[in-house]
Amino acid sequence: MCSNLVKEIIRLKKEKNAVILAHSYQRLEIQKIADFVGDSLELSVMASKTDADVIIFCGVDFMAETAAILNPEKTVLIPVEAKCPMASQLNAEMVDKAKENGLPFVAYVNTYAEVKAEADICCTSANVVRVVKSLNSDEVLLGPDRNLAWFAEWKTKKRVIPVPEGGHCYVHVQFDRSDVIRAKAKGVPIIVHPECNPEVQLLSDYIGSTSQMVEFVRKHGSAVIGTEIGLIERLKAEGYRVDPLKCVICREMKMNTLRDVLRALREERNVVEVPSDVARKAKRAIERMMEISRGGRS
Ligand code: SF4
Repeated sequence: MCSNLVKEIIRLKKEKNAVILAHSYQRLEIQKIADFVGDSLELSVMASKTDADVIIFCGVDFMAETAAILNPEKTVLIPVEAKCPMASQLNAEMVDKAKENGLPFVAYVNTYAEVKAEADICCTSANVVRVVKSLNSDEVLLGPDRNLAWFAEWKTKKRVIPVPEGGHCYVHVQFDRSDVIRAKAKGVPIIVHPECNPEVQLLSDYIGSTSQMVEFVRKHGSAVIGTEIGLIERLKAEGYRVDPLKCVICREMKMNTLRDVLRALREERNVVEVPSDVARKAKRAIERMMEISRGGRS
């Protein structure tokens, strides 16, 4: 049954000149049929490099929005309208209110288009240090993840104020000190995501985005990894010796199934649309980030 599903997805993909993009936290069977697997920004950039007419974005809604903003001439479809609980913790009104103190606002890419539209610049977990350093201010606002703000403050020595104060990813805050201490016995590097709590970051050997974690593992061959289980499953399937720091699952990332991908292709439903004025302003903040990142990764 599953192989019939896959065959039909591949047939329709060809017929509709579609491309399937999957985030590293998607179910493994979805990552396996995807044309590209990566983090949200990598995938959006990848989308603009293909000549596909239709993009099936397997991730959560803010990621598909970013793909739509960067590729207005293409049809972006999301199999299931899964909402990221962290992105939902911040809206445009909160950003406007925070900016009343005159400080620049950095929007993590894990935000909705309306938030990016009010931001001075965007950042990813891979380039946040470079982005914060580039701003002509010793104090900046950053949202919605308080732990990414803490990481940026630690690495840049600037004051990075989280907006909202308690914004977080419910998946990454599940790791704690005792998980890291227990994992140290394995004698392999411990690598974690900057959305983890500060005590977890401080005890680990390396902190990076999902794409930086993949690079790390390809270079070192093994690691204990503190992020969503999908990335670890993908690296295991590629033959690397990796273990989870603890098995944590993003429920929203796991909502897409192969059946949903097939239905999205067949019915071309769940088209992602961003109002043009919001898209134009959000694109400016994303492009500013890309200009800063061009010099290399932080
Ligand atoms: S892992 Fe965290 S930030 Fe990513 S989609 Fe899930 S809740 Fe949102």
